[in-house]
Amino acid sequence: SKYVYSFGAGQTEGKSSMRDLLGGKGANLAEMANLGIPVPPGFTITTEVCTIYLEKNEYPDSILKEIKDAVLKLEKATGKKLGDKKDPLLVSVRSGARISMPGMMDTVLNLGLNDESVIGLSEKTGNSRFAYDCYRRFISMFGDVVLGIEFNKFEHILDAQKTKSKISSDTELSVDDLKAIVEESKKIVLKEKGFAFPQEPEKQLFMAIDAVFDSWNTERAVIYRRINNIPNNWGTAVNVQSMVYGNMGETSGTGVAFTRNPSTGENRFFGEYLINAQGEDVVAGIRTPSEISTLEKCIPVAYKQLVDICKKLEKHFKDMQDIEFTIQEGQLFMLQTRNGKRTAPAATKIAVDMVNEGLIDKRTAVTRITPSQIDQLLHPMIDPKAPQKVVAKGLPASPGAAVGKVVFTSEDAEHWVEKGERVILVRTETSPEDIGGMHVSEGVLTVRGGMTSHAAVVGRGMGKPCVVGCGDLLISAEAKNFKIGDIEIKELDFITIDGSTGCVILGQVPLIEPEISPEIEVLLKWADGIRTLGVRTNADNPADAQKALELGAEGIGLCRTEHMFFEEDRIAAVRAMIMSETKEEREIHLKKILPMQKEDFKQIFKVMRGKPVTIRYLDPPLHEFLPKVHEIQDKIRELQAEGAPQKEIDKLMSVINRVINLHELNPMLGHRGCRLGITYPEIYNMQTRAIIEAACELSKEGIIVKPELMIPLVGHVRELEITKKDVQETAAEVMKEYNVQIDYTVGTMIELPRAVMTADQIAKEAEFFSFGTNDLTQTTFGFSRDDVAKFIPLYIEDGILADDPFAVLDREGVGELMKIGIEKGRKTHPGLKMGICGEHGGEPNSIIFANELGLNYVSCSPYRVPIARLVAAQATI
Ligand code: ADP
Ligand code: MG
Ligand code: MG
Repeated sequence: SKYVYSFGAGQTEGKSSMRDLLGGKGANLAEMANLGIPVPPGFTITTEVCTIYLEKNEYPDSILKEIKDAVLKLEKATGKKLGDKKDPLLVSVRSGARISMPGMMDTVLNLGLNDESVIGLSEKTGNSRFAYDCYRRFISMFGDVVLGIEFNKFEHILDAQKTKSKISSDTELSVDDLKAIVEESKKIVLKEKGFAFPQEPEKQLFMAIDAVFDSWNTERAVIYRRINNIPNNWGTAVNVQSMVYGNMGETSGTGVAFTRNPSTGENRFFGEYLINAQGEDVVAGIRTPSEISTLEKCIPVAYKQLVDICKKLEKHFKDMQDIEFTIQEGQLFMLQTRNGKRTAPAATKIAVDMVNEGLIDKRTAVTRITPSQIDQLLHPMIDPKAPQKVVAKGLPASPGAAVGKVVFTSEDAEHWVEKGERVILVRTETSPEDIGGMHVSEGVLTVRGGMTSHAAVVGRGMGKPCVVGCGDLLISAEAKNFKIGDIEIKELDFITIDGSTGCVILGQVPLIEPEISPEIEVLLKWADGIRTLGVRTNADNPADAQKALELGAEGIGLCRTEHMFFEEDRIAAVRAMIMSETKEEREIHLKKILPMQKEDFKQIFKVMRGKPVTIRYLDPPLHEFLPKVHEIQDKIRELQAEGAPQKEIDKLMSVINRVINLHELNPMLGHRGCRLGITYPEIYNMQTRAIIEAACELSKEGIIVKPELMIPLVGHVRELEITKKDVQETAAEVMKEYNVQIDYTVGTMIELPRAVMTADQIAKEAEFFSFGTNDLTQTTFGFSRDDVAKFIPLYIEDGILADDPFAVLDREGVGELMKIGIEKGRKTHPGLKMGICGEHGGEPNSIIFANELGLNYVSCSPYRVPIARLVAAQATI
């Protein structure tokens, strides 16, 4: 097979659809060349070579020749020769995986320079300052990336020279300064490596290629892939590209830009550049870059060309582009383009705008926002009414607000988060080593860097609130504190940052839930028009129901009634009910609870206005409602100390007895669910009465009510038969009393393996199924949901499980059971309505699976409803 693909100068062999083979960067460089956009020529070594190299630790046989041929072609195209003493060809060696991994792989620039060719470059360009600037950059980059010498060591040399020559900016360095830096840098290489800086360009090239491939497996790259679910066997490509120079003087420069604002989505060219600079200078935050629009005055011709190219690229790729460019003595070159990372608000606005501009259709628009971005949109913001002490302001790099304790290193971030703290990572600037720490932090604050700095790009990608370039901060790494003026903030002090405004605030500021933007409404409406899977919500109270409706829920898929028992003003009655020794006694207390439950249901029904409401009968073990034994014992001791009458103490003693009596060894598999309804039918009857009375009363007011009554934890069809008969009798009684007919149904949860295996029998009795995937996961794995924290993390680390099955539905086991349940259920009850309730109903992967299974709906918590609407639509595309 072919391992090397050339691009540029009329000999482009790749195209953008070849990204798996050429990596994102290489494929798009080829595509730009194909579009006639000025790209410095070069060639791409495929990802396949990387995979082979990493597997066998050697290259395929033909590779050497292919690379040499490609170099020859490149020499022809540029009219320069690698290592030439008079006019050397210099190249960059750049990594590029299938999908962009910001900052993961390092680039080496100006490769091909040595003690002789630097003189040639200097004479050829008549610019020795430039030539030696290139050389000192090359040695430090090569030293760092290829030879593994700490970059710091080279930076020290630079800083020392600047101090010595009493200058502050890199651009002020004289030729002699630069020559001195070159010499010192070479000494460092000799000292650190025990060999001289390699002078043969070809050797430099092959060493750099090795280094790029090796960098695929550096720790930071591995961590990034793990966090982002990128397969390890994809590998990276290597791009070797002839250099263009942004450091040739005042009409040269380099920059990065987005075709639209990646933070807000506004359709305006957005970016930064530096005059007389090279490569990463802009992103590295070495000098403060200028805003892109000022380039129009600075180098007008190149600016206009740049704007035109951006338009062309957007039209071609039909998406917002993130570009890198360099201007060499007034002439523009494009060095990279890719679909730009963006914040959630920007993603939404851009998708909707592009439909309106006729660039994409609605189905495509719906795929342009990820579930986690929708999630971000629903993230908290700072309560504008709360008092807040803004102590500093940086750039608003990634929106959303975050509150946490200050930490200064990634290790500390991970350490404290493990201890259960929420932290904000505060750094001078972040680097790829900080990915792990950023991932666990609530937000990130940096002193240096612009809107395209590492922290900003990664923060936006992760959806982490992020404030960068906050220059007022004075960090002392040793003292573990930072100062803003005379205010000192120590490690583990609370701060709040607002990534939408750039504000840094002392202490913990209250956050509020965000509003849904008009664009997101539009996008979700489009999603509704595409999806077939229904989306309901889990809600136990009117406020949640209302919120869910606003967020687009089509009904309630799970209304848990136990939460209604916990309310402060009723827990006494509930406890008395549970404490009752006889049925008669129990009924007296149930009568007290009845009106309260009825009122709950009335309110929820009112909010839902004719939309289906699935109500689950009491499910948890009764002892959950009782006080803890040690709490009662404390109380008894208190009473004894106060000298309270023995009668009162005896009463509490009997409570203890009852609690002990109700104690179960395995409550999750114990006296709960429909087992309660069968042993204490009066409890379920009270609930039926509350529901149907509420429905009747509302019906008389002209409000339509559609209750779906759901029996939990059925494992045997007889359990459903018995409870259902009770439900129907009580319902009939109530409807007769009110002389109203209510259109209700009785169905069941399917959450036990036995229910699944006998779903054909159960379906004859049931009017709907709701898969309770939490319990079904517990009972299928035999994992106690409350105890899994002890081993699941290890299971995931060791690769025994890919995900926590309580978060992401286990398709192979639980999912297969569901398939059986669905098939059997619909066999005896064609068209039986089925859904999922439980945490999985709001989890993207599980929603896609629910859609595949042909379920009628998913039900999830209110704030997951928009995610479910979007994913359900994406699942069909
Ligand atoms: P990253 O993937 O980290 O963005 P790149 O390979 O894009 O790394 O290289 C970083 C920067 O180096 C580019 O943005 C560009 O400014 C500079 N660069 C890379 N190749 C060249 C080249 N051939 N000529 C001039 N500058 C280059
Ligand atoms: Mg780049
Ligand atoms: Mg359950």
